[in-house]
Amino acid sequence: MGNLRFDVVQEAFKKKVVSPENPAGKPSDYFGSLVFGRSNMRRYLDAQTYQRLVRCVDDGVPLDAATADKVAEGMKVWALEHGATHITHWFQPLTEGTAEKHDAFLSPDGSGGVIEQFSGKSLVQQEPDASSFPSGGIRATFEARGYTAWDPTSPVFIEDDTLCIPSVFVAYTGEALDYKTPLKKALKAVSDAAVPLCRLFDPKVQHVYSYLGWEQEYFLVDEDLFAARPDLMLTGRTLMGHSSSKNQQLSDHYFGAIPSRVAAFMKDVEIAGYKLGIPLKTRHNEVAPNQFEMAPMFEEANLANDHNQMIMNVMKRIARKHGFVVLFHEKPFEGINGSGKHNNWSLGTDTGVGLLSPGKDARGNLQFVTFFVNVLAAVQKHNGLLKASVASANNAHRLGAHEAPPAIVSAFLGDTMTAVLRKLLELPSDTPIEIAGKKGRGVGLVEIPEIFVDNTDRNRTSPFAFTGNRFEFRAVGSSANCAGALTVLSAAVAEQLKTFKADVDKAMVAGKPLETAVMDCLKPVIASIIDTICFEGNGYSDEWKKEAARRGLDTESSVPKMICQYAAPSSVELFTKLGVYTPVELEARNEVKWETYSTKVLIEARMAARMALNHILPAGAEYQRRLLESLNLLRQNFPADCERLGATEAGLVRECAALMADIKQKADALNAAREAAEDMEDAFGKAVAAEKAADRLRELRTGIDKLEELTDNALWPLPKYRELLFIN
Ligand code: ADP
Ligand code: MG
Repeated sequence: MGNLRFDVVQEAFKKKVVSPENPAGKPSDYFGSLVFGRSNMRRYLDAQTYQRLVRCVDDGVPLDAATADKVAEGMKVWALEHGATHITHWFQPLTEGTAEKHDAFLSPDGSGGVIEQFSGKSLVQQEPDASSFPSGGIRATFEARGYTAWDPTSPVFIEDDTLCIPSVFVAYTGEALDYKTPLKKALKAVSDAAVPLCRLFDPKVQHVYSYLGWEQEYFLVDEDLFAARPDLMLTGRTLMGHSSSKNQQLSDHYFGAIPSRVAAFMKDVEIAGYKLGIPLKTRHNEVAPNQFEMAPMFEEANLANDHNQMIMNVMKRIARKHGFVVLFHEKPFEGINGSGKHNNWSLGTDTGVGLLSPGKDARGNLQFVTFFVNVLAAVQKHNGLLKASVASANNAHRLGAHEAPPAIVSAFLGDTMTAVLRKLLELPSDTPIEIAGKKGRGVGLVEIPEIFVDNTDRNRTSPFAFTGNRFEFRAVGSSANCAGALTVLSAAVAEQLKTFKADVDKAMVAGKPLETAVMDCLKPVIASIIDTICFEGNGYSDEWKKEAARRGLDTESSVPKMICQYAAPSSVELFTKLGVYTPVELEARNEVKWETYSTKVLIEARMAARMALNHILPAGAEYQRRLLESLNLLRQNFPADCERLGATEAGLVRECAALMADIKQKADALNAAREAAEDMEDAFGKAVAAEKAADRLRELRTGIDKLEELTDNALWPLPKYRELLFIN
C-alpha cells in the first residue's frame, strides 16, 4: 500500500537550494527602484507638477484635476518602462491581507487600435464592486459601491506587472471600510495633540510623527508537506499532530545558522523588498524549529505598515519559488512558540527630537518624561481596548496561553525608569532631571542615562515594554494588520496628551513656571501608573492574574468578550471625540471582528471533524485490522500459546479501540457545537458559541494525538510535526 506521507516527505527532502536572484549592484544601487518616490517624481514630472505633488504629500494640499492628470501620465511612463501593463488601487480591507483589482492600461484609441492610458481621475479614485468585503453591515449589498482613494503619503510601487496605488477604502456613505483610514486619522490626532505640548518646550515644532518598526515572525513549511495537510491548507494551522520528540527544548534553533534553502528565500525577499524601498535590516532564526524573523529599520507608521503588508505579500509569493509555504498564523503548531509581530513604536518631532528618548538637557528630559508617562497613562486607561485591538481567532492561541503576550496588558519600564519615576514623586517639582554622570553623583538629583545601553533587564513576558527609545507592543499577532493596534494606541495617547496639556495650561495660568507646572501635573499620573499599569514581574503567573484584577486591569480571556471593549462608553467617547471612528463604524467593526472570529473557528471545526472521520479513524481502523490479523495468525500457528504471545497486540487493539471511540464521540460533540453556533443569528452570540466549539476541538485533538503516538508510523496519513518542523 502506497503512503502519501512517505512520498511527500521524500520529495521535500530531495529539494535543492534555488539560487536567489542576482541583481546588478549593491542594495543601495537598486533600493527603491520599483517605487515612484521623490527621485522618480523629479525625473518623470515637470517642475510645477512635482512641486504640487510634494505639497500634496507633505502638507495635504489636494491636487487639482489637471495636475492629477499630469502625475498619472508621469507614473504611466515610468511604469511602462518597467514592464507594467496594469494598475490597481491597493488597499487594506477588514479581511486581514490586502486587496487589488487589476485594470490594464489598455484603452481603445478610437481608430480600431489600442493605446496605454492612465488618467488623473483613475489615479485618485476608483470604484471597485466591493460588495463582498466585510463591512459589518455598513454597506448593504444593494448599495455595493465603496470607493478607493489614493493615499499620496505612501508612494506608488510596482509589483510584478502592476502599478500599485496605496489607497484607502470607504463606503459610499463615507464610513471607513479598511485599516488605513482610521490609522491615518489616529496618527493625525496624535500629532495634533502632541504639537501644542512640544511647543511648551520648543516653539518651532510643527508636526509630530509616529514611528513603527515591526518585527515579523513566520514559519516556513515545505510545500509538499503543506499540501498533504488539509488543515494547514484550509486554516493556516495544524488542528492535530502529536508533538515531536525534539522541538525547541534545546534552544538550538534560536539565532542558529540559517538553513541554506531558507537563506536563499530570505535573500530573494530582501532583494524584492529593497526594490520596493523597504529598509529590511534584520533576519534570524527564531525560537521554534522552522520559525524565523525579519525586521526593517523603523519608518513613519503609515508607510511602515504598508511596507509590512507589502512584504507579507512578497514573502508568500517568493516562498513558492523556493518550494516553501510561509505561515503567518499566530499558532500553526501546538506546544511550541507561536508567531507575533512586535510593534516598536515611538513619537518624534519634525525638528528631529525623539520624544521617547532622553533629551540633551533637563528641559529635554522633562519633555521625555512627560511623553513617557502620558503614554503609560493612555495604556492604563485603555488597556482593555488595546487588548481588544489584537484579539482574533488566531491570536487567541497566544493570548493567555503562557506565551508572549499574556491576556492582561501591563507595561514594563525596567529598573532605571522605575527608579526615576519613584524619585520624581519624592522630590520637589522643580528638581531638574539630569543626564547621568554629567553633574557628578549627588543626592536629591534625578538622573537618567543618556542612552539606555543596558537592555539586559528586558522582560519578555510583558506585552508593552519600554526598550530605551521606544515602546514595544508585543501582543500584535503575526498575521495581523498593525494598523488595528496602532489606531487604538495612537488614539489613546492623543486623548491623554490633550487632557494633560489642558491641566498644564491651567497650572500655568495660575502662575506656575513651566517646569513646576508640568511636574505638578505629572506627579498624580506617575503615582497612578506605578500602582496600576506598571508591572515588572512574570506576566504569565497566576498571582499576576489575581493582582491585575485587584488593580482594575482588564483580565478578560475570552476573545469574543474582549472585542466588546470597542463598544464600551470610554472607547466610543475616545474615538468619536478624536474623529477616528464614528459610532456606526465602531459598531460595524465589532460585527466584522465577531464574524471573522466565528467564521474562522467554524471552518476549523468543520475541518477537524472531517479529518477525524476521513483521515484519522480509517488509519486507526487499519492498524487495528493488522493487529487482529496478527492475532489470528498467532492463534493458527501457536494455538496453545496464543493468549500469552498475543498479549501485546490484544492490548494495543483495546487501546486503539478506546481512542477511536473517544475520537468519534468528540467529533460528534464538535459537530453539534458547530451546528449550534451556525444557528445563531446575532454576531456576538455566534462568536461566544463558536468559542465553545473551539473547546470541543481541543478535546477532540487530545485523542487524535494519542492515536498518532500509538499507530504504526507507516499507516499515519498526515505529515507529522517532526517532518513539518525539521525539513527545510
Ligand atoms: P529586538 O528583537 O531586540 O527587539 P530588532 O532589531 O529585532 O530588536 O527590532 C527592533 C525594531 O525596533 C526594528 O524594527 C527597529 O527599527 C525598531 N526601532 C528602533 N528604534 C525605534 C524607535 N525609536 N521607534 C520605533 N521603532 C524603533
Ligand atoms: Mg523585539
